Amino acid sequence: MSTPAALTNLLDFDRDSLRQWFVAHGHSAFRGDQLLKWIYHQQVTDFAAMTNLGKDLRDWLQVNAVVAPPQIVSEQQSTDGTVKWLFDVGTGNAIETVFIPEPSRGTLCVSSQVGCALNCSFCATGAQGFNRNLSTAEIIGQVWQAANRLGHQRNGTRRITNIVMMGMGEPLLNMSALLPALRLMCEDLAFGLAGRRVTVSTAGLVPAIDTLADSVDVSLAVSLHAADDDLRNELVPLNRKYPTAQLLDACARYSRGRVKRTVTYEYTMIDGVNDQIQHARKLITLLRRVPGKINLIPFNPFPGTRYRCSSETAIAKFQQQLMAADFIATVRRTRGQDIDAACGQLAGDFMDRTSRRQRIQMQVAV
Ligand code: SF4
Repeated sequence: MSTPAALTNLLDFDRDSLRQWFVAHGHSAFRGDQLLKWIYHQQVTDFAAMTNLGKDLRDWLQVNAVVAPPQIVSEQQSTDGTVKWLFDVGTGNAIETVFIPEPSRGTLCVSSQVGCALNCSFCATGAQGFNRNLSTAEIIGQVWQAANRLGHQRNGTRRITNIVMMGMGEPLLNMSALLPALRLMCEDLAFGLAGRRVTVSTAGLVPAIDTLADSVDVSLAVSLHAADDDLRNELVPLNRKYPTAQLLDACARYSRGRVKRTVTYEYTMIDGVNDQIQHARKLITLLRRVPGKINLIPFNPFPGTRYRCSSETAIAKFQQQLMAADFIATVRRTRGQDIDAACGQLAGDFMDRTSRRQRIQMQVAV
């Protein structure tokens, strides 16, 4: 839902900035904390219902502010319990958010941009082009809406235990909106998740990894997909700007001083492209320097792709090779494939206003 220009959307603020906003308008900073609890703990968006605020303040909020998450266009449920929402983000654009329930946890996969400019060759989102960055309200609003729909916290049950910034877009290309949203995910007065349960995934924006490390204490996942530069240039074109050696250095800096914060390396298994034993050996050699957990992701096909998923045998052999070298290597179980909610399948519904030439310029500029 778009916010009328005169109204301030309070979902755009993290705790500090909300407190400052109240002070700037002549109110106590503590009002910001009260508002956070109403919005995120009680899921209340109507100021009139916020009964511990004085009548004058409630009336003032009614004419100056709004709590406006993006509106749900559709909700689909997979046979395996996975839920996918399509959100309206205005001017004919929509983004996708996915909830993946498991016996011991519930993971919410959140989008950061409408489309993506990085054009990874195995990704449905990249194939669609880029439209715009999401605002903080649109990022945290996905979590708010999912929590509302899932009854998160109802009867004391936390349905969302983990959040991964792995939906549509490259989160680190939208840092100014991302950081307040990450703080709200970890803020006790909002969603209150431990930093290790909030993961930012990046295709490898080296300077932005350092900025993230200096700004918040969350987990990092890197979309690696290849261990040598020639192949990675093809799969993740951003590699031409930040080659694997630079990327691994940034991962080492990120892990330094963070207890239990090893980097997760995402590796999509593509038949005949990166799934042979020699690829596993190169990966072992590369990651000896900066160890981390390796997550093997069976490639999820989408219309128009030239790739196919590796066979189960090839994936098992690859995994065994990594484990024999003492790496923790897991195979991500494909979830929500029947509703196109699996990894790399999120395409949303948006108008690409970025030509291929502009996209390449954006890659070079980052
Ligand atoms: S894999 Fe991530 S960074 Fe690459 S195109 Fe897809 S959304 Fe963008």
